Amino acid sequence: MFHRILIANRGEIAVRIIRTCREMEIETVAVYSTADADALHVKLATRAVCIGPAKAGERYLNMSALLTAALETGCDAIHPGYGFLSENAEFADLCQQCGLKFIGPSGDVIRKMGNKSAARDLMRANGVPVVPGSDGPVASAEEALEVADAIGYPVLIKASAGGGGRGMRRGDGAEDLPALYAAAQAEAVACFGDGELYVEKLILSPRHIEFQILADSRGSVVHLGERDCSIQRRNQKLMEESPSKALTQTLRQSMGGAAVRAAQAAGYQSAGTVEFVLDHDDNFYFIEMNTRIQVEHPVTEFVTGLDLIREQIRVAAGLSLSVRQEDIRQTGWAMECRVNAEDPRGGFRPAPGKVEFLHLPGGPGVRVDTALFNGCELSPWYDSLAAKVVVYAPTRLEAIRKMRRALEELIIEGFPTTADLCHLILYQPDFVKGRYDTGFLEQHMDELLQWDCEGSK
Ligand code: ADP
Repeated sequence: MFHRILIANRGEIAVRIIRTCREMEIETVAVYSTADADALHVKLATRAVCIGPAKAGERYLNMSALLTAALETGCDAIHPGYGFLSENAEFADLCQQCGLKFIGPSGDVIRKMGNKSAARDLMRANGVPVVPGSDGPVASAEEALEVADAIGYPVLIKASAGGGGRGMRRGDGAEDLPALYAAAQAEAVACFGDGELYVEKLILSPRHIEFQILADSRGSVVHLGERDCSIQRRNQKLMEESPSKALTQTLRQSMGGAAVRAAQAAGYQSAGTVEFVLDHDDNFYFIEMNTRIQVEHPVTEFVTGLDLIREQIRVAAGLSLSVRQEDIRQTGWAMECRVNAEDPRGGFRPAPGKVEFLHLPGGPGVRVDTALFNGCELSPWYDSLAAKVVVYAPTRLEAIRKMRRALEELIIEGFPTTADLCHLILYQPDFVKGRYDTGFLEQHMDELLQWDCEGSK
């Protein structure tokens, strides 16, 4: 087993990884920019190394600084968390060249799945259903038009290198398509330095259902069931739950089987997520594979009783998975709300600031993953996720009640957050019935924001 792991990340995920390392008696090295000198991950790690001045979000992207810190502190592995370098194939390769184990899949696998158009082709070749669309990338707006004519509108133009909903445009007809193509390409070049695009049919009002998979170096691949991540704003997840109300046991088995095939086709190792959209006729289609731990992994941990970071570390150290498919049971219901430092009444403008007062919810079945503490400053340089409130209960209705209660206990003074919006959603009748899709939030936003918060509580 590893002796010391460098955590190439910050915020709640760095804290989350430190927790498991401590339980496994593995030492941790935190890295920080000067803006993060007082951050919680710095305080909780065995030791911490400054990797540069404030201001720069790029600090946590500085590969040579991270590798040097790992080597100088005698680490034998690096955990990248999510975001930053977690899906950077070059970084995974460099770790290996430096004799450091990258806790994640190999650079080759990251590269293979990082190109979403190529990943689609690989999936199709391995019997995993993909959304109807182009064979590989399209070379021009004319080619995109031909594909769109063949599959029918509406379509989505997507960036092969895409992520975070960027480089994506909806096309409803031939007239607008060339302009949308140009806009998607410009955004893809600006965000990812790669303008390659492909075309997919837009599945109307789908659910976003993703499967957690785990794979070891000995060829074992298991899935840990699904997460329903359909509560999204602009393709960004806000609330997640497991299991999903949309899946029967038969459908779960069939999607889980497809997720395992997807991981096998990629030659996958470590924890990963296979994302699907599910239409109203129970047809499901692969959209992408995320080759890292996800923000929403705690809901899966609650329903399966497994520690996904521990499994990642075990697999990276060459051990086999601690579970077989037949041992995995999804029991009870888990739900997560993302508490972002954003103002829902002000167009979701990021609004970081100082935490003047903090009270976190607790009690049975409540977990809060956060790096906040009283008096800390939420940095404007990084993403706006302030806390994840996660609950676990025997049934969905009990999980909803528990989440309402947990959010009512949560106090963050100093900046607006999405917690109240999540609380309102927990009272929306269609949500309570489990009848929602990825269009839910957009359809109900005005109504939700008009609700009297006091009346709803
Ligand atoms: P990104 O990597 O940028 O987040 P994804 O391909 O994962 O992009 O898509 C993000 C979200 O966009 C999905 O969760 C889903 O809500 C929506 N989406 C993606 N592809 C389709 C599609 N073909 N039809 C309908 N919705 C889609």
